[in-house]
Amino acid sequence: MAMATIIFDLDDTLLNTARLKKDFFNMLQRETNLSHEELRSCYKKFSRQETTFGPVAFLKYLSIQHPIAPSINSENFFSSLDWSHYIDRDLFHALEILKNDHELWILTKGESSFQQLKIQKTGLNHFFSPDRVIVCENSKCEALVPHNFSGDIIFVNDKYHETREVISRYKNFLPIIFSGFSKLTPAKRDDNYQFVHSFEKLFEVLKK
Ligand SMILES: [Mg+2]
Repeated sequence: MAMATIIFDLDDTLLNTARLKKDFFNMLQRETNLSHEELRSCYKKFSRQETTFGPVAFLKYLSIQHPIAPSINSENFFSSLDWSHYIDRDLFHALEILKNDHELWILTKGESSFQQLKIQKTGLNHFFSPDRVIVCENSKCEALVPHNFSGDIIFVNDKYHETREVISRYKNFLPIIFSGFSKLTPAKRDDNYQFVHSFEKLFEVLKK
C-alpha cells in the first residue's frame, strides 16, 4: 500500500513567518531612518505589485522609494538569525514520527531562493527531500498539476481562501487549516474543514 501523503504549506504553517517578517522590519527600522509607518506603507505598495514576497526584491523596491544605506543586505541579516525562533519545538517531534509512514511534501509560494533558504536554515530539509518541495511564484493549484497526486492527500495550510481554491479543484485533498502563527487565519470558519491551532493538536489529528 502506498504511504499516506501530507502536503504542508511553509509560511505561517511550518514556519513562524509572521515573527520572521517582524524581525526583518525591526532590523530595517533600526538600520534606516524610516518609521514603522513608512516601511509598512512601502510594503503594502510592494505587495500590490508583487505576488510573492522576497527580501531582495523588497529591498530593491524600498531603495527606489526611499534612500537607504547600500550596506543593508538581507543576506547578512538572514544569516545572523537564530532560526530556531521561527520553528515550533513540537513540530520536529511530530515530523520525526510522521516521516516513518507518510510521504511529506512542501507546497509554497514565494521567491525560490528565499523559500529554499528558509527550509535549509530551519533544518526542515531533514524531513523534506528537494524532490518533495514545490516552490511556485503564482498559483498553487497550477503548481500541483504535474505531480498528479492520487489517493487521499492531507493538505495543511494557514490560508483559508487559498485552501478552498485548492480543494475545489483537487477533490481528493483533505484540508486542515493551521492557525498557530498567522493572525489572519480564522480559528474556526465552518464545519467542512478541520481547524487546528497547535502542532500538538495537528499531530493528534494526523495520527488518527
Ligand atoms: Mg502560508
